[in-house]
Amino acid sequence: ALTSCGREDPGTATGTAGGTETACEGFEEGAAIGVALPQKTSENWVLAEQLFNDGLTEAGYEPSVQFANGGVAEQQAQISSMITNGVEVLVVGAIDGAQLGNQLQQAKDAGITVLAYDRLLTNTENVDYYVAYDNFKVGELQGQALLDGLAERKGEGPYNIELFAGSPDDANAQVFFDGAMSVLQPKIDDGTLNVVSGQTSFDQAVTQGWKAENAQRRMDTLLSGNYASEELHGVLSPNDTLARAVLTSVAAAGKDTPVVTGQDSEVESVKSIMAGEQYSTINKDTSNLVEQTITMVEAIGACEEVEVNDTESYDNGVKVVPAYLLEPQIVTQENAAEAYADDPTLAELVK
Ligand code: BGC
Repeated sequence: ALTSCGREDPGTATGTAGGTETACEGFEEGAAIGVALPQKTSENWVLAEQLFNDGLTEAGYEPSVQFANGGVAEQQAQISSMITNGVEVLVVGAIDGAQLGNQLQQAKDAGITVLAYDRLLTNTENVDYYVAYDNFKVGELQGQALLDGLAERKGEGPYNIELFAGSPDDANAQVFFDGAMSVLQPKIDDGTLNVVSGQTSFDQAVTQGWKAENAQRRMDTLLSGNYASEELHGVLSPNDTLARAVLTSVAAAGKDTPVVTGQDSEVESVKSIMAGEQYSTINKDTSNLVEQTITMVEAIGACEEVEVNDTESYDNGVKVVPAYLLEPQIVTQENAAEAYADDPTLAELVK
């Protein structure tokens, strides 16, 4: 079987357990590259499809890019057939990063290099690299933006807030939440922030499937149960889709607009920020992430060392996955023009 390169750390480049690993053979023009994407739960995933198709084609490869809108079983089947079809590299944006163990073992057995894209693949030995924006940093920026927005728009504290997290099957959700809580917890402890519902744990804050309707329903319930005679000053939201759901719920309840965070720089949220509604988002330019992924694919194909910049943060339960992390950027009304200057769609919206 063809073996992948770059899998060993440079110091111990001679084979894995079993000792059957041979030298890197690499791959060339026309090689098949599989890209398994999750559901279209936010605009970044939709953008990734075109960017991967164009970028991989331009680099001389044969891309196969597939969404799994039907869920985990569909994604498992897609990955299996990519392997059967002879891909050299698998790029996986998992729906549930813990449910692909069999497929990734199959990939490993076939000598395929596996890149976890945006979301970590967990509880498996068979993931070679991780490429993503720094998720903990995203959370920290969101937590800080919530504090800044409250001071800016809601006068003196203490402030009443609520906390939302993403989907628990996505490994990123916990990391975003932990990053945000690293900033917010001390302010909850010192009484600056009051989570009126008392729902401060990740499990209480999650939004299954990153679905807007689930966040909206939870916000409706939180409002009717806790805010009949209280003001709501702020909401930690892990992304833009959920931020807009929260804002919809609050508006329907006739409450003043709270400070709400977000992520992804989705068109509707950037408009909302410019209109003074949603407070912040995160800029994680998808084209940079796809470009970095393709750079890694090319290094693997050329049997060159794959560049990573983090070898300690992403323990997947079995191993620490070497990662290339990109820097996320916070965006509010104040820096939007600068942040999106090079984005053809968004630059128009923030002039
Ligand atoms: C991505 C976020 C996105 C979320 C929902 C996460 O894994 O990192 O950018 O908002 O999925 O699609």
